[in-house]
Formats: sequence, C-alpha cells, structure tokens
Amino acid sequence: MPLSEFELIQRFFANSGTHRADVKLGVGDDCAVLNVSAGKELVVSIDTLVEGVHFLKGSDPQLLGHKSLAVNLSDLAAMGAEPAWATLALTLPSVDEKWLEAFCQGFSGLAATHHVQLIGGDTTRGPLNISIQAHGFVDAGAALRRDGAQLGDLIYVTGTLGDAGLALQGAGHTNPSAFLQSRLDSPTPRLAEGQALVGLAHSAIDISDGLISDLGHICAASGVGATLHVEDLPCSQDVRAYIKASDDWLLPLSAGDDYELCFTVPPERQREVEQLAMSFECGLAKIGCIEPGPGIRCLAANGRQLKRLFPGYEHFSSEG
Ligand code: ADP
Ligand code: MG
Repeated sequence: MPLSEFELIQRFFANSGTHRADVKLGVGDDCAVLNVSAGKELVVSIDTLVEGVHFLKGSDPQLLGHKSLAVNLSDLAAMGAEPAWATLALTLPSVDEKWLEAFCQGFSGLAATHHVQLIGGDTTRGPLNISIQAHGFVDAGAALRRDGAQLGDLIYVTGTLGDAGLALQGAGHTNPSAFLQSRLDSPTPRLAEGQALVGLAHSAIDISDGLISDLGHICAASGVGATLHVEDLPCSQDVRAYIKASDDWLLPLSAGDDYELCFTVPPERQREVEQLAMSFECGLAKIGCIEPGPGIRCLAANGRQLKRLFPGYEHFSSEG
C-alpha cells in the first residue's frame, strides 16, 4: 500500500535530524514558529530545481537532495549569513520510498553539516520539482550585498571556476573526472568564507550563472565596471588542460553551477583578506579590479583585451 501524505511526511520529514533551540514549533502544524534573536536580521532565499530543466530525469536522488539545499545555502553564503532553517516544497510523480530515502539522506547530510533544521514544507503530486527556501541570520545591517562595490575595489573569487561547466560539457561524450562530476553534482556552499567576509567585503555574490554574468550583477547594482585578468582566474587541473587544448576562456568566465563566491574588497584591506584566505580550504584568487565605465573587460597576459574572442557577448563590454 502506498503511504498516505500524512505517513509520508511523518516518515521522511518530521524528524530529519537537526534540532535547533530557536525552533519553537517545526514540522507538523499549519506553520512553524521560530525565534529570531535581538540584533539579528533574517535572510531568506528560495530556489527551485525542475526535472528536465535543472537536472536530468533519473538523476541520483541523494545528490539531488544535497544539491537542492546546497544552491540555497550558497545564496546565504553570498550574503555572509549563518544558515538556520529550511522549508521544502516537493512535487513528486509518485511515492517512491527508495527515492525519498536517498533524497532525504542527501538533504539531511548537508543540513546537519551546517546545523540547518527542516521546519516545514509541502508535498504534492506532479512532475518532479524541488523547491527549497533557506533562512539564516546576519547581524543587523551587516549583510553582504551586490550593490556595495566601489571604484578601486579588488575582485576575488573562491575555489576554482568552470569545473561544473566542463563536467556538463563532457556529459554524453567523455567521462568527466570524478572531481569534475562532484563539482557539478555536489557543490559546496562557501558558508564559512562568506561569514568571514562580513565587515571586510564591500559586495558579494555567489556564482550560479557564470562569473561574467554574476560579477555583471555586482557591477550593475553598484553602478561600476570591472577589468579581469584571465590568466589569474583560478582553474583546476582539468580546466587548465581544457583551456590549453582549446584556448576557450569562455569556460571559466561564463560557465555556471560552480557556486563559488565572487566579492570585492577595498585595496587597503588586501593583506587582511589574503591573510584570512589562508584559512579557506577552497583557496582564493584575486582576479581584477572595479573601475568606472560600465561592462567587464577581460585582459590576456599580454594586456590585450579578449573581447574579439566573444563576439556578441554583451556583458563583456559596453564598447563592443
Ligand atoms: P497543510 O495542509 O496545513 O498545508 P500539510 O498536510 O501540507 O499541511 O503539511 C503538514 C505538515 O507537514 C506541515 O507542518 C508542513 O509544513 C509539513 N510538511 C509537508 N510537506 C513537507 C515536506 N516536504 N518537508 C517538510 N515538511 C513538510
Ligand atoms: Mg500543505
């Protein structure tokens, strides 16, 4: 006999592992009741993953459980927030207990790592669709935002760029390395890094749509432009080998799904941020600076602008 909706919620979601003192009432009532400490601001974000759009039919449910929470926590990381709670709206074509068990394992594993409690949600029948809302805290007024970049700021990114894109590009043709595949399937939200940047970075964003696109959001929101030095882009061995063979800088510049942080820091705090970055397991790279004039200019090692390599790529430069 298939589980009723009530049984399904009880079995998979009512007790998903993490218990927080600030949850007065979690899964089970009409609403959750939550406590926000004085002096803190609540930071909220939602993301939806749709089968056939954001992931392939038949994708590993455990990885999906991880990734669907990870992409939300990445948004909190970009604000410098400390994560606390999540809600989960799940639309399922049928009640597949094996699938649900694996999904919950992936979700709960990452939730436990970051002390996130599942506090409610909704379960409906239909084409597979996973919608997660994540909630976190920042000290009042301290959130890292897209609109704070200032002229002269240095631009940094965590981790490496283009790995998820290369895994995706390889899918179906070649077997991506285990490293590339895990960068695509199992991204790591840079939460500790984001929190450490509070009070230091002028602006921040997480790279979900590609560096140029997401740095473009910082530039547009802040009313500035940027110059990047492509040789300074942090790339894994796999991506370096790919660029060497193809001369395709578009991969680290524009491929999405890496979930690294891009942020800007005033030059007088360069030493401080680079000192801090020694504690970042993922590493940190300085890739350019914020300048007047809209658009993002990409320079090669010889100082030449790369724009001719990207005809019609409007984000690169307002000049062309
Ligand atoms: P209602 O009809 O009031 O919306 P539901 O029957 O949808 O209530 O849900 C009952 C309880 O289970 C609620 O507390 C809801 O937040 C929780 N819940 C439902 N689906 C999920 C889910 N997928 N994950 C976590 N909590 C869920
Ligand atoms: Mg409901």
